[in-house]
Amino acid sequence: MKNVAVIGAGTMGNGIAHVFAQFGYNVSLIDISQASLDRGMATIGKNLDRQVAKEAISEADKQATLNNLNTFTSIEEGVKNVDLVVEAATENIDLKLKIFADLDKFTAPEVILATNTSSISITKIASVTSRPEKVIGMHFMNPVPVMKLVEIIRGYSTSDEVTNLIMETSKKLNKVPVEVNDYPGFVANRILMPMINEAIYTLFEGVAGVEEIDTVMKLGMAHPMGPLQLADFIGLDVCLAILEVLHDGFGNPKYAPCPLLVNMVTAGKKGVKTGEGFYSWTHGTKDLVVAGNFKK
Ligand code: NAD
Repeated sequence: MKNVAVIGAGTMGNGIAHVFAQFGYNVSLIDISQASLDRGMATIGKNLDRQVAKEAISEADKQATLNNLNTFTSIEEGVKNVDLVVEAATENIDLKLKIFADLDKFTAPEVILATNTSSISITKIASVTSRPEKVIGMHFMNPVPVMKLVEIIRGYSTSDEVTNLIMETSKKLNKVPVEVNDYPGFVANRILMPMINEAIYTLFEGVAGVEEIDTVMKLGMAHPMGPLQLADFIGLDVCLAILEVLHDGFGNPKYAPCPLLVNMVTAGKKGVKTGEGFYSWTHGTKDLVVAGNFKK
């Protein structure tokens, strides 16, 4: 495989395009929005500068990476002659089903179609294509250039051959792939999201405050940050959407999202991206300030 298309130039898409280009693949970065493509390319440039400053790559590597990238606002144009597509567009099932139906039309039958979805069923996405054995989850972690893990999710019909090829491709990107099956939340979010939800319940029930909960988990469990801070980084709307997938998918009340999480999302307090979640993010990230509502 040499030619890869990445669909979506947002948080994840620009990172995925960055690593493929850095490791020598020709990358078509595709987004419906020219502004997103411009922002995505600017982010790639900044992240490459950081790698050069840390002497992780040379200036020549940076130039070679940028030379491997081309941008497109049309899927049909961008996927011409690619061997692999990695879709990282907005987490919305109808949108992804439409993109995969289009990809099935616009690419040759042997092209592998991967998705970076956090929570949508790979089997469901594969069902709108005529090649379910070539549809697979390739779940990178944020920030993509830094995080080692790629969760490789096999849909119900994904073939061994395609799984092995995507495992090997992930290793060529200097990542560590882990193979899992396609059930709600896969492995990463099935374990992470109930922990975050339980932290929110602990706050909701008044057992402890925001800082106390995060400090217990940071210092007691050696987590790099507490679950409430992590939820702010992920986005509280994203956490809620994934919990709803777990709740609907398993029909088990243990996954019911905490009412406080539901209220915060309804009130537009979605974490870092809106400036406020469990913490206030308006003053940067250095000094964490607990948002007003949670002060004791
Ligand atoms: P984002 O909102 O930052 O970016 C999504 C991009 O998709 C936007 O630039 C948007 O313009 C583009 N887009 C929307 N419709 C499109 C279309 N029809 N064709 C092409 N581009 C289109 O989202 P994100 O956080 O990068 O998430 C992307 C995917 O990655 C989602 O499936 C999400 O679940 C998954 N994911 C996110 C994270 C995370 O931490 N943010 C981690 C792992 C996986």
